[in-house]
This record gives sequence, C-alpha cells and structure tokens, in this order.
Amino acid sequence: MRLLHVLAAASLVPATLFAQETPTERESARDVVHQLDSLEHSLNLPALVARLTGPNAARDQVAARAKQLMTTELLAMGDDITRHPEIGFQEKRSVQILTDYLRKHDFTVKIGTPGLPTAFVARYNKNSGAPNLGVIVEYDALRGTKGAFHGDQHSTQGPIGIAAAVAMAEYLARTHTPGSVVVFGTPGEEMMPPDAKTVMFDSHVFDGMDILVRSHSSMVTSRPAAGFGTCCMNIDGVKYTFSGAPAHELTAWNGRNALTAAIHLFNDIDGLRSNLRPEARIQGIITEGGAAPNVVPDRAVADFYIRYPDEVYLAQETAMIDDAARAAALGTGTKVKIDHYGKARDGISIGSLSEVGFAYMKKYGATGVQPEPGKPQGYEETGSVSMAIPGMGFSAKTSNAPNHTYEMLADATSPVGHQGFVVDAQAMAALLFDFATHPEYRAIVKREFATIHGLHARYIEDLKKTYTVPVVGAP
Ligand SMILES: [Zn+2]
Repeated sequence: MRLLHVLAAASLVPATLFAQETPTERESARDVVHQLDSLEHSLNLPALVARLTGPNAARDQVAARAKQLMTTELLAMGDDITRHPEIGFQEKRSVQILTDYLRKHDFTVKIGTPGLPTAFVARYNKNSGAPNLGVIVEYDALRGTKGAFHGDQHSTQGPIGIAAAVAMAEYLARTHTPGSVVVFGTPGEEMMPPDAKTVMFDSHVFDGMDILVRSHSSMVTSRPAAGFGTCCMNIDGVKYTFSGAPAHELTAWNGRNALTAAIHLFNDIDGLRSNLRPEARIQGIITEGGAAPNVVPDRAVADFYIRYPDEVYLAQETAMIDDAARAAALGTGTKVKIDHYGKARDGISIGSLSEVGFAYMKKYGATGVQPEPGKPQGYEETGSVSMAIPGMGFSAKTSNAPNHTYEMLADATSPVGHQGFVVDAQAMAALLFDFATHPEYRAIVKREFATIHGLHARYIEDLKKTYTVPVVGAP
C-alpha cells in the first residue's frame, strides 16, 4: 500500500510549512512546524546533496554492481515472483527464492522471526562492525477477488533490496571498510494484524540498525518532505461482528437480521461524514453477510480501516464509528462485538536521507520526477519502525498506473517497471555507500532524526488542545 501526496502550490513557502496534512495541524502545531522548518534550513541540504552525489568512482562501482545484478538475474527473479503471487503471511515460495539467492551470495539466513514464519533475517558473512545497514524487503501480493495479484509490485522489492545489499556488502568486505549489511524479509505489508514490522520491531529484530532502507512501486518518482503528520498512515483496523437470530426469510419476524445491521453501519457512517473532518478516510467491506437468501443472516462481519493524518483526531473518529456500530445493532435488535485488531501510527521521514536518495534516483535515470517533496511519510508505512530508526523509502517511477491495479501488475514485468526497479536498486546502493563511508553524513542524519523525533510528542500535545469534542446539550 502506498499513497502519494504531491504538493501542488507549495513553491512559495518552505516545504515543511505545507508538509502537514491539514490546516488545523499547521495552525495548532505552528511552533513545532516552525522548528521543523528551521531544522531543515540549518542542515543546508542542497549543499549536502551536491557534496555527496558528486564524482566518486567507488560509489559508481557499487551502483554499477547493483545494476548488473538486476539486469542479469534479479529482474527475472522479480518477474517470476510477480507471476506466482502469494498473499501476506503465506509467501513461502517467494521467501524460498529470495533466501536461496542470499545464501548463494554468502549471507547467513534465518527464516522466521517470533510469530512470523515468512519473515527472515539475512546477514552477510564477511562484514564486520558498524554502521549496520538494514535493507527491508517485502513480497506479499494483494488480496483480490480473482485471487492474489501483485498490483502493488511488492514482487520486485526483494530483488531490488538484494541487489543493493549484495553490492554494498561486497564493497565493505573487499575494501575492509567497517560496516555490516543485513536484509530483513518483512511479510504481509498489506495485512494487519499482525502489523509485521511492528511485531518484528517489538521482537528486537531490528536492534542495532543505524539505517533502514526500502523501496516501493510508484506512478511517479518522489520523496517525502521531512517530518511527520502523514496522511492515511495513522490507521485503526476495526472488525464489527453482528449477531442476530436465524429464521425463514418468509417469517423473518422470528429472527433478527445481522446483515441489516451491517448495512445500517455503512449508512450511518455515510450520514456521519459531514460531521467528520474532511481528511478522514473510512474504508470498509462486508466479509460475511449470511449463507442463503431464505435464512435470516444471524451473523455479519464488516472489516474497516479508519484513517486520519494524526492519531489524536483518529481516536475521536474511531469512537464515532464504534458508536455507529452500536447504534446499528440497537436499531436492528442485534448485538455487535467490536474488535480493534490492529493499528498503524505516524512515521518520521528525514530530509538528509530522502533528498540524497532522491538526487540519486534522478542521477540514475528516474522518470516522472516530481520536483516538490510529498507529505512526510515513514519509510516502512506502518510508522513504528521509522519512529525509532532513521531510514528512507525509494520510489522511482515503476508504473504508468496507480497502485493496487491490474495495470500496475502488468507494468511490473514491462520496460517501465524494469527501468524503475533498476533505478531504485542503484540509488539504494549509492545512499548506503554514502552512509557507510561518510561519518559526518551519519552524524547529520542522526541529528536530524533526533530533533524531529523530539518534536513529535509536543506536536501530539498541541493537537490534543485543538481537537475538542463539541458539547452536546440535553434534549
Ligand atoms: Zn505496498
């Protein structure tokens, strides 16, 4: 899943001023936003980008090795995984292919992390010491009505990450440069629960990493603005299970209809929308709605992702939907069980990483380049890991079509996909090279990350003062 938000009219003001999603956020968190802006100016990122991305033969060699691996072996591997889609937490074949390749290239692989049989960790055998360079790869397909399909191109994330990891690991070993490369296979990006990366983080799988990088398909070549407050990646996953009583539909008064309750919930939500802030996104499906037209459904289940740009208003939004579900049950004589089964929260994006990575994507021939940064977005989409470890998501243009479509699936095995995947692999290798070989660059990344991280709690407190709940008087 990836949602792109490109800024249209931000060129007259510093990017971070418009980086927050809502006017309310910008206003209520004005001081925090101002501090973010000062931070970005103090880093003088254009000069940093120019310094790092200038001529460097060793870096060019690492990027060229990543490209060579892609064009000779790994694009074909991506095509193969594209043609054999597996949905989240069932990606056994994909994991086998990726880890076999890593073993062949001198990585020690451990398949499975606590609670996640299709996660893996692969460490290069001939590296030593810090910095620890982590590469996150995903491989789950989307759940479609016609079966699994790679309409989000996760199928080639593995090959891209592996190309960059192998190229960088070999360089460190060959030149006896301190630093270690680790590849993390993270399953089920499109699924929750469990939110795999959060589970892995809680199990200390990412402990010790100094940087994490990842790639994702995209319609355009873009990078996020520095900061937090991303659209849509604050998500509550909620399941509403309605129970009624069965009866013959011809004598339905002998039963209570759980499907009617689920339909009421959807209608109630539509009725609520005008009283919700416009940035709210509420997306639901009915996963169970009865077994036969002549039996009153005594069970219906609706599954929702409830989203907002920040977690503070999201809590209010979810409480309103929960109440709508209770109302639907009450109004139909049924009962409802509410299960808050998963959540994703805000993440941090770092300008000193994403601006350099973006410059490399352009350098290696990315197309569809968006000049302005998009909204802040944690690199691994679930927020949790990006709040703790600095990193970057690479998204060169890999499709002419939007995410989660059959057209994006087709582009995964076509020139537009292949070209973008090779760009991602080279840019990822180049950024890892810079991070590993320039201690002063690592210090800048660390400082920026710590400063942004330190502002987040203030931002949340500021928002709490803004999103007051209206007083509703007695009738
Ligand atoms: Zn995705």
